[in-house]
Amino acid sequence: MLNKSGNLIFGIGMSLFITFFSSCEKEDLSEISNGELGLESNIEKESFLSCSWENADLIDGKGMYHSDSQRKWPNATVKYVISQQYLDVDNARPQEMVRTLKRAMNEWTNKTGIRFQEVNPNTTSRNDYTLVKESAGSSSTLGYAPGLLPMELKIRYNAPFGVYLHELGHAIGLYHEQQRPDRDRYVTVHPNLINNQLYKIPSRQYVVHTPFDFNSVMLYSSSGYYGDYNMVRADNGQPFVSNGYSNGVLSQGDIDAVKAMYFSSLPEDVSSNYWAYNEIAFMWQNGYIRGSDGVNYRPNNNLTRAQFASLISSIINPPAIRGDRNFTDVPSNHWAKAAISKAVRGGYLSGYNDGSFKPNRNVSKLEMTIALANGLRLSGGNSNHLLSFSDRSQIPSWARASIQNATANKLVVNYPNKSYFRPNNSATRADAAMIFYQTLVRLGKAPRRNNPYIVLP
Ligand SMILES: [Zn+2]
Repeated sequence: MLNKSGNLIFGIGMSLFITFFSSCEKEDLSEISNGELGLESNIEKESFLSCSWENADLIDGKGMYHSDSQRKWPNATVKYVISQQYLDVDNARPQEMVRTLKRAMNEWTNKTGIRFQEVNPNTTSRNDYTLVKESAGSSSTLGYAPGLLPMELKIRYNAPFGVYLHELGHAIGLYHEQQRPDRDRYVTVHPNLINNQLYKIPSRQYVVHTPFDFNSVMLYSSSGYYGDYNMVRADNGQPFVSNGYSNGVLSQGDIDAVKAMYFSSLPEDVSSNYWAYNEIAFMWQNGYIRGSDGVNYRPNNNLTRAQFASLISSIINPPAIRGDRNFTDVPSNHWAKAAISKAVRGGYLSGYNDGSFKPNRNVSKLEMTIALANGLRLSGGNSNHLLSFSDRSQIPSWARASIQNATANKLVVNYPNKSYFRPNNSATRADAAMIFYQTLVRLGKAPRRNNPYIVLP
């Protein structure tokens, strides 16, 4: 169907992004009757467009996730806003739907590590969140697609739990299981549906790693959509029911696909002999860090104080222990406003006495270490902990206790020379990955590793 802004949305289960419309012509499909499971059924008459698929923004992948790394949500976190329209529905429906939605989000998070974060639409770019709406049909944009069209996730009132899981799967970046390039070995699709966007095998490069999964929440049942046996098993011609979809349970294939999409690859610019390789790999694979292009980490680059605050917010997500501060140079629409606020309220960052935060200034090694030592409320340090630093005279007296505590807790990592703390140097992104890795070790969330650049107390 066409939405208000004229963008094309392929309804029910998924949306595909068609970047050129000139080759599309309108095609009417007959009304869909209730499927045997009543899933994605009871849908108002939909119009689909048949388009030139060379222009369709489709890339295949394992378990049919979107293999374009740009479609991955930054920090493996799906940001969303629940639309006011959704909440305005009278009676108890909205609360029930929001509860179900959050239960489905928790299911994905617990099984795969992908996270969901409700954001404030007034301080977040419209390109950076998906809008959850109630709708006659359920559908979702595919993965993170800033600028391609407004990201939306629509849920039909009364949709079963499996539909919530299914649409969230699309929002994360999963295709339908019946669109896998190898699906003809497992299911026979009714010829009339071969070119239907909900069944069409995408045309570009693909790799299939996992077995076809009859339990996937991303697989339609034989009659779940068009009311007739539009798909049967290829081996015996019999109709089937998608277990994951009807029972509302994520399959192992669903879990593996999301893990593979978000957490398996490694940054291309960090080689296995890089000094912080193992720690960066862990942080990357677990979604704690990410490159701006989704492919490279750029470990030797510096990071700004705003970026550092963003890491504190996303990796540690500290609870508020004190009030917020309004900084003169962090306007309410600053991209890192929420993260800076969280880091400040959590006791990690304070800003400067003149009321500024200096979000664009590179964070120094000293600032980074103090922030984590104070925020984590580390203790146990004493003056002996600074003796191994040949440049300890450069550490200002007011900062010594924090650096001693950080050293005592193995948060200090000095590359390339363990004897030099270099407090005034701008920290690199590798330095940041290392200190956050050591933080995760301390929090019991990462395995202890014996990196030779960790200063041992
Ligand atoms: Zn779907």
